[in-house]
Amino acid sequence: MEKIPIGISSCLLGENVRYNGGHALDRFLRDTLGRYVLYTPVCPEVECGFGIPRESFRLVGDPGKPRLITGKTGIDHTDRMEAWVEMRLRDLEKQKLCGFIFKSDSPSSGMERVKVYDDNGVPRKIGVGIFARIFMEHFPLVPVEEEGRLHDPILRENFIERIFTYKRYRKGMEEKESIKNLVAFHTAHKLLLMAHSPKYLQQMGNLTAHAKQFPPKELIMQYEKLLMEATALKPSAAKHTNVLHHIMGYFKKVLSTDEKKELLEVIDQYRGELIPLIVPVTLMNHYVRKYDEAYLKEQVYLNPHPLELQLRNHV
Ligand code: SF4
Repeated sequence: MEKIPIGISSCLLGENVRYNGGHALDRFLRDTLGRYVLYTPVCPEVECGFGIPRESFRLVGDPGKPRLITGKTGIDHTDRMEAWVEMRLRDLEKQKLCGFIFKSDSPSSGMERVKVYDDNGVPRKIGVGIFARIFMEHFPLVPVEEEGRLHDPILRENFIERIFTYKRYRKGMEEKESIKNLVAFHTAHKLLLMAHSPKYLQQMGNLTAHAKQFPPKELIMQYEKLLMEATALKPSAAKHTNVLHHIMGYFKKVLSTDEKKELLEVIDQYRGELIPLIVPVTLMNHYVRKYDEAYLKEQVYLNPHPLELQLRNHV
């Protein structure tokens, strides 16, 4: 698979662009995830023309649409920043980004819980950085995360699964915007969708079953919206357990009583948080290969992202 285009706050890659001339390097993002993605670094403050080092900014006023003000001198740079963001977004549209990783807490790049100061100078952590807010409004379906939240194994696994899924979807639709491609994508992602939301899986199944009733472009847009909404819902241990039992059903005629018992025990141990998800999934993959189960061999759920990322070793 070709590298996945992802936007990222420049300082997370180790670029010395912060207000104090420093960086905020995240080694996992640069060195590990970086092997599979093609980063487009964005530093709103530097690219907008503010130097290094520079006076730090803060958000002030209405939390829904705060102003970007310099911390000491109190100069309002909101209009300048917003004009730059609009221009930069036109360029980012061409990159076809499948995700964006923001630097937390920044008045320009923070995705949530950024400090917003009221008229008395009292901060509340309820804002969104100016660039991050306009980006998310402009690209509502693109998966976004912050580097701090990505230290949580569940959020990390979910975000990375989403960017891989989005890339596969876009690639499939770019090659040929046909109903056949969409149905093939849906078929291969059924179990993955089941782990996120059986309700969405059903809705998306209905959509693909009636695909011929829609103009292809409208169908693809509708499906894409549902896909990104569905995968934004985090899978729980209960939902994974449901999928694992479902997979087990494919082997009921070929497994011995002992093998079935062992498989059920492993699933129970996962459900009880004694072992990580990778253990039952590895066992399932073993049986898929051993019994050459055609439908399961195509299921992305069993291999949604490179094993080297070890994402399911911690969930
Ligand atoms: S947080 Fe955003 S604006 Fe600040 S240095 Fe990093 S990329 Fe630049």
